[in-house]
Amino acid sequence: MDPRIRPERTPLLVLTASLLLTAAATAFTAWTAHERDAARFQNAAQSAHDRITSRLEVYINSLRGIAALFASSDTVTAEEFRTYAERLDLSGGYPGVQGVGWTQRSASGWPRSSFEQHSIRYLEPLNERNRAALGYDMSGEGTRRAAMDRARDTAEPSLSGKVTLVQEIFGPKQAGFLLYVPVYAGGRVPATVAERRRALRGFAYSPFRADDLFRGIFGSELEPRVAFEVYDGTGADTAALLHRSPHAPGHRPQFTARESMIVAGRLWTVIYASEPPFEETSSAELATGVLAAGAIVSGFSFWLALGLARARRAAEAANRAKSDFLATMSHELRTPLNAIGGYVDLLDLGVGGPVNAQQRDYLARVQRAQQHLLGLINNILNFARLEAGGVAFHREPIALASLVREVAGFVTPLVAEKQLTFGIQPGPDLTVIGDADKIRQILLNLLSNAIKFTNEGGRITVHWDAHGSMAQVHVADTGIGIPLPHQEQIFDPFVQVDPDLTRTRMGSGLGLAIARELARGLDGELSVQSEPARGSTFTLRLPLQDSEAPVPDTDRGAPTGAKA
Ligand code: ADP
Repeated sequence: MDPRIRPERTPLLVLTASLLLTAAATAFTAWTAHERDAARFQNAAQSAHDRITSRLEVYINSLRGIAALFASSDTVTAEEFRTYAERLDLSGGYPGVQGVGWTQRSASGWPRSSFEQHSIRYLEPLNERNRAALGYDMSGEGTRRAAMDRARDTAEPSLSGKVTLVQEIFGPKQAGFLLYVPVYAGGRVPATVAERRRALRGFAYSPFRADDLFRGIFGSELEPRVAFEVYDGTGADTAALLHRSPHAPGHRPQFTARESMIVAGRLWTVIYASEPPFEETSSAELATGVLAAGAIVSGFSFWLALGLARARRAAEAANRAKSDFLATMSHELRTPLNAIGGYVDLLDLGVGGPVNAQQRDYLARVQRAQQHLLGLINNILNFARLEAGGVAFHREPIALASLVREVAGFVTPLVAEKQLTFGIQPGPDLTVIGDADKIRQILLNLLSNAIKFTNEGGRITVHWDAHGSMAQVHVADTGIGIPLPHQEQIFDPFVQVDPDLTRTRMGSGLGLAIARELARGLDGELSVQSEPARGSTFTLRLPLQDSEAPVPDTDRGAPTGAKA
C-alpha cells in the first residue's frame, strides 16, 4: 500500500469506488433493459406468428387432401366422405376447425357464372351445427362468393373475409371465415382462367369459428405473455375483428407490434401486445438485482477494508511500541555500559592508583565484554530502526571501485592479524546509485564475517561486475562455509549456524539481517553461495547508474536522518 494514503481513508476509497462501479453497472443494465425487452417481445410475437401460420398450413393441406379425393373420383358418396373425414380425426388433430365439407357446383344456369349455385353437399362431423349448414348455397353470399371465385380462378386455396357461419344457431356468435380448395372436372387444373371457370366442379372447404380456432391453436394459456388481435383486411376496426386473445382487462401494454399476414390469399392484420406476465419478467428487474448485489458487495468490501485498516493500524502501533521499547532499553543499557567503559579506562590509566599485571588482564577482559555488549545493543537498535522504516536512504552516484578499496583498508589490520591472504580483483569502472554509508556498512559486515569464519592461512577476495542494470560485488572466502539448509536462514535476525562456534568469535546474529535490510532499502539484494569446508561467496547487488535518467535523491521511511 502506498504509505502516503492514510489507512483510515482506504476503506472510504474502497466504498466509493465500489458504489460508483455499482451505480455504473445499474445504469448500464437499466439503459439496455428496454432494448433487451423489445427484442424479447419481438421473439414472443414471432413465435405467436409462427404458431398461427404453421397451424393454418396444416388445415390448408388437409383440405388439399379432400380436394384430391374428389379430383380422383366423380362420384364420392356420403359414406366414402365420412370415412375419409373420420380418418382425419378432426377433433383430435385439428382443434378449432369446425369441419370439412364439399360444395357441389349445381348445373342450373351453367356455364353462366352468375347463375351458379354451390350448395353444401357433405359436411363432417355431422353435428348439430353442421347439420344446419347442409344444403346452404354459398354462392348467394358476397364474401363467400369472392373467395370461391378467387379459388376457382387461381386454382389455389382461398380464404374468405369475415362472415357469420350458418352454423351459428345457438350460443354467442363468433366471427367466422371459410377456406376453399377448388376441384376441376377431369381431376387436373386447367391452364387458363376461362377453362378453370368452365371446368369447376366444386370446392373442398372448411368453415372456421375464429375464437374456437385460435383457442385451439394456443390451447388454454391462462396467462399469455403476449396478447394478439386478428383483423380481416388491412384495418384494425372492430367490424373486421376476427379474434381477440385472452388479455388482462385495462392493461396498457409496454410493447406493441403490428404485422400483415397473408393466409391463403387473404390479408390479415395482427396486433401483438405485451401482457403483465411478460412485463413482470422485464430486464429492468435485473437493474434492481445489480443494484442490490452491488450494494452488498460494496458493504462487504468496506467492512473488509475497515478490518484491514484497523489490523494495519494495530500492527503499526505494536511496531512503534516495540521500537520505542528497544530504543529506550538500548539507551538505558548503553548509559551504564559507557560508564563501565569509562571507569575501566580510568583504572587502566592508573588514575585510581597503580595497577598490577593481573589487574590489567582483568580490566582488559571487562573491556572486551563491555565492547561486545555495546556492539550487540547498537545492532539491536539499528535493526529495530530499520524494521520500523525509521532509516533514511539517500541516493547518489558512487564509484564502486574506490568505495570497495576504502572499506578494504578498514579490515587490513584484522586480515594481517589472522594471517589471511586478501586481494581485490580489479573489475570494470562501475557507478552505482545508493547511500555510501549504508554500502560501507554492508561491505564491512561481509568482510568481517569472512575474516571471522575463515581459518588462518585462508584467502579472502573481493571482485565486482555488472549484470543487466545491476552491479554485483562478490565477497568470497575459503572459510568454513554454510550448510545449504542454513543459507537462507542466516539472513533472519539472531540466526547463527553454530552458536557455540560463533560465540567464541563474538557475534550477535544480527549483522546479515541488517545488511540484507539495508541492501533492499537501496533497491538491491544480498545473497549467498556457499559450500561447507570450502568457503562462501556473498553477493551484494546494487542498481547501476542509468546515464540517461536523472538521479533522484529520495528518502525512504521517516525523515529522521538517523544513521544506522
Ligand atoms: P554474526 O554476528 O553471528 O556474525 P551475522 O548475521 O553476520 O551474525 O551472521 C549470521 C551467521 O551466518 C553467522 O553466525 C555464521 O554462522 C554465518 N556466516 C556469516 N558469514 C559467514 C561466512 N563468511 N562464512 C561462514 N559462515 C558465515
